[in-house]
Amino acid sequence: MKSASDLGLPVIGVGLLYQQGYFRQYIDNNGEQQAYKPFNDPGQLPVTPLRLPNGEWLRIEIPLRGYPVWLRAWQVQVGRVKLYLLDSNDAANIPIYREITSEVYGGGSDMRIKQEIILGIGGWRLLETLGIAPDVCHLNEGHAAFAVLERAHSYMQRTGETFEVALAITRAGNLFTTHTAVAAGFDHFTPSLIAEYLSEYAEKKLNISLHDLLALGRQNPGDTSENFNMAYLAIRGCGNVNGVSRLHGQVSRHIFEPLFERWPTEEVPVGHVTNGVHMPSWESASADDCWTETCGKDRWQGTNDTLTQTQDMLRVSDSRLWKMRNEARSSLIDYIRQRLAAEGASYGVTAEAIGNTRKIFDPNILTIGFARRFVAYKRPDLLLHDPARLVRLLTNDKQPVQLIIAGKAPPADQGGRDLIRRWVQFIRQTGTSQHVIFVSDYDMLLAEHLVEGMDVWLNTPQRPWEASGTSGMKVLVNGGVNLSELDGWWVEAYTPEVGWALGDGREHGNDPGLDAREAEDLFNLLEKEVIPDFYNRNADNIPVSWIARVRKSMATLTPYFSASRTVQEYTEKYYLPAADAYHTRAAANVAKGKQIVHWKSAIELAWPRIYFGEVTVKTEEAQHLFEVPVFLAGLDPHSVMVELFAREDQPQGSKLFRFEMQPLTSSGEEAKKGFIVYNAKVPATIPAGDYTPRLIPRHEGVSVPLENARILWQR
Ligand SMILES: *Cc1c(COP(=O)(O)O)cnc(C)c1O
Repeated sequence: MKSASDLGLPVIGVGLLYQQGYFRQYIDNNGEQQAYKPFNDPGQLPVTPLRLPNGEWLRIEIPLRGYPVWLRAWQVQVGRVKLYLLDSNDAANIPIYREITSEVYGGGSDMRIKQEIILGIGGWRLLETLGIAPDVCHLNEGHAAFAVLERAHSYMQRTGETFEVALAITRAGNLFTTHTAVAAGFDHFTPSLIAEYLSEYAEKKLNISLHDLLALGRQNPGDTSENFNMAYLAIRGCGNVNGVSRLHGQVSRHIFEPLFERWPTEEVPVGHVTNGVHMPSWESASADDCWTETCGKDRWQGTNDTLTQTQDMLRVSDSRLWKMRNEARSSLIDYIRQRLAAEGASYGVTAEAIGNTRKIFDPNILTIGFARRFVAYKRPDLLLHDPARLVRLLTNDKQPVQLIIAGKAPPADQGGRDLIRRWVQFIRQTGTSQHVIFVSDYDMLLAEHLVEGMDVWLNTPQRPWEASGTSGMKVLVNGGVNLSELDGWWVEAYTPEVGWALGDGREHGNDPGLDAREAEDLFNLLEKEVIPDFYNRNADNIPVSWIARVRKSMATLTPYFSASRTVQEYTEKYYLPAADAYHTRAAANVAKGKQIVHWKSAIELAWPRIYFGEVTVKTEEAQHLFEVPVFLAGLDPHSVMVELFAREDQPQGSKLFRFEMQPLTSSGEEAKKGFIVYNAKVPATIPAGDYTPRLIPRHEGVSVPLENARILWQR
């Protein structure tokens, strides 16, 4: 939203205002994570009540399991754009409704569905109430997917169309961004929970049966035992789908394959836009000085294209960059010392111990950071695979290292909490508290300090679980260097000139030896490359080759992994075309929308009776001439397309060949039997036998297979 504001893009955000936010972390004497949930007083947050012209607080009413819930609306001014937040903590509500918006990630699926109804249905209704009619609705993960239903519902109210037509029209203006790298990561609800909360909504508002609503969230609409998957609803309700990095796009095409039966994985309709971060929000004071001298004050305004083209940072001298790095590291260490002293005092630690924390660490030592949510796939324990080697590495007299660790484990995740305890115990048992610390209560403020000062940002997820990752992007602007598993965004960013890579760039499933191998690789990398490079100084005590990496990473990666680029890409690739598509479908009294619905039912009707006749091939002059008779069962030939398809496996991945076949206007034997003969001439660079004819739905402006996943293969 900050970048949208910077770019002047008219965007409105909608979310929930959680009274207790996410828990606050405290690590007790046993290294156990304890959770606190202080109340966020809205009076102290940068939010203001959203009021009606008559001064009354804007409230909206949402039906929830037979009894309505009242929602209050708040607004946050984000530069030039607005974020609206809903909450249910209104005295007008029954108590169990008041706590729906207490905590993010709180409660079980009953709580979750209520939150998602408030976000999706309530969120869209809020916009309606404000008289805002966006062309494009961007769903950030499946949690918000009920919005597609409410958008269709309000379209029905406005036009009197059926739900089917309304969805066919409005979905063109919806974009679904998936952020999950494993199928188990999606929200799903039991059919009975959906029935409890949404059967009345389906029948009275959408005018569809509960069964039809459930079908939108199921892989197999006919399977009444299947749960309702929010990501599936999002896919059925959107005109485009994307993942958040190139690799994640690929992973998502596998995840969503089940919805596109018999389609090649490569054609599963999921694209990608790689994430970015809002650079000015993460930039240190010393980096700001350096960038301003080099690229000017307005460098983050606009699209960053100039930064990308000129790469001005490449011209900054070694000594200037090293000065910046030293300032930023010192300032981080000051902050850590103060924070630890304050924390110690609040825990009742002795004055002597507090005195020690004021001296902890050394501003001249290589400083490595790891701050993440503590969950198994991020493998925060990779360095603990060899504790003795880690101690040697940290306490090396000539080339010492200091390590700062932070992160919260999800409160219900015992495994994550164990990982925190293992670090705390390691520090105690090895007496390395002058070299490694666990800083409690990782949040955005702490993150800001960490990413400003770190020399190396360590990232050790198990590929391909990190859909993108963003914290590593936050160090780029500050001249921090990434050492990361080749996963998420780093696959696109890494070259040996800008950082270090862990892993072989492949997936290893449940391979039990993987962590030990990668831990070994990580130690080798640190001992043989990273640490020596940092301490390899010239006559002026500058680590010239280290600085070369810093410079290259700042100059080339910062503009690209900036949210300006991300927002620009979303706008060009998705928002503008989606707005057009939505208007096209709605135009001329929803004519196009109705056509799409008719087209779909005609295909459904004819589909079981469509089949291929005998294929003939002649090869001459380096071309195969294919003739393929197709029995269309009365279907208008324009509503489908016949293609020749082939796949050639190449080292870089497989290459797909698709050639459209043309119907012949023949009056021969075949035509008499009701066949249409399609033909095509294709290059004979691959054998004729590698081509397979296939028939797929086609309708102008409609995305296939996203909106119609039928496909018939000749064999
Ligand atoms: C940036 C950030 C994250 C996300 O970091 P990842 O690398 O994507 O895991 C999590 N928590 C905080 C506080 C952050 O600032």
